[in-house]
Amino acid sequence: MRYGQGLLEEILRRTDLVQLVGRRVQLGRKGRGVWGCCAFHQQKSPSFKVENERRTYHCFGCGAGGDAFKWLMETEGLSFPEAVERLASEAGGEPPQWAAEDEARETGSEHGLTRGGGPYGRDHRRHSNHR
Ligand SMILES: [Zn+2]
Repeated sequence: MRYGQGLLEEILRRTDLVQLVGRRVQLGRKGRGVWGCCAFHQQKSPSFKVENERRTYHCFGCGAGGDAFKWLMETEGLSFPEAVERLASEAGGEPPQWAAEDEARETGSEHGLTRGGGPYGRDHRRHSNHR
């Protein structure tokens, strides 16, 4: 099964990543981020950060990071389509469906799942400015 970029972004927008990660990791707010002990390696002081605004998590200890889909894939062993369906049903109560515009975008591009735009695109530009 394939999913359009618009649908994936909509699911991420509706997902509360802090709440999702909080089911598995004890999180506490500190500054602008929410921190906890990493789910992927053993540690005593929290270096695992969830940024709900950017819909991403990152561990400064072991380098694990990603979005809500990746989180489910890595902690629950789901495949990408399974993670999408899980979040879609939790976020909206409806199974994911193809919109006509998703289909058009997918078939018109060779990079169906490449995340070039949105918050990811902003990050890439900011990082490249530093180099
Ligand atoms: Zn870690």
